[in-house]
Amino acid sequence: MKGNLLYEGKAKQVFNVVGEEEKLILSYKNDATAFNGKKKESFVGKGRYNNLISAKIFNYLHEKGIPTHFEKGLNETEQLVKKTTIIPLEVVVRRIAAGSITRRLPIKEKTPFIPPLVELFFKDDVLDDPLVNDDHALLLTDVTKEELQMIKETAVAIGEHLADFFYLVNLSLVDFKLEFGRTVDGQIVLSDEISPDTCRLWDVDTGEKMDKDVFREDLGDLMDVYNKILARLEEI
Ligand code: 5GP
Repeated sequence: MKGNLLYEGKAKQVFNVVGEEEKLILSYKNDATAFNGKKKESFVGKGRYNNLISAKIFNYLHEKGIPTHFEKGLNETEQLVKKTTIIPLEVVVRRIAAGSITRRLPIKEKTPFIPPLVELFFKDDVLDDPLVNDDHALLLTDVTKEELQMIKETAVAIGEHLADFFYLVNLSLVDFKLEFGRTVDGQIVLSDEISPDTCRLWDVDTGEKMDKDVFREDLGDLMDVYNKILARLEEI
């Protein structure tokens, strides 16, 4: 049974579970934010799409042997997860150049990264999630050098699985952001969500952007795009 609200973020609410101390319920919201909350809008159905898409992705990753916090979907907008303490790092894996890296460095959009490039950002709204290096990450979090190496290697491995998964539905995985958390017994597992809010996805045939960039860049109807992604995933 759903307990009290523990935390509310930009895209999700987190609830305790009565009688199950080591579990949480994630409730996906309809709000969309970009540019660290400076742009904000609510879309009917968004919470449902991201909950259902994220659940499908976590189930696929479990089949591939990746440990995650995901336990099961509960309803259209909520999922049961293992309680974790989030490590305050955004682990971004880039397979093709797009977004912030093309503004920060002299790298043209669509440049392929082989092998994929891993970047770490420190989760801090006040500081606008700054890009950090490994030494900064070790200083700012409780992860060890070995754990950080494992996190980065796991993120790249997850990228291979995700790219295969999305390619099944004719989507090219450009980049994505992961968050890892520590379970009550200390194990580091993939946490948070994986959805079109956290991945860049381009249609393989048309190159059409099919992710939150539609909202960030005012390219069209965001829910139409998320609906298409879920419909494609429901066919496999
Ligand atoms: P960029 O650094 O180019 O803005 O983002 C790289 C990738 O990470 C994109 O797929 C983007 O959606 C994701 N990402 C980076 N930061 C955030 C964030 O704070 N929230 C979400 N939802 N996604 C992020």
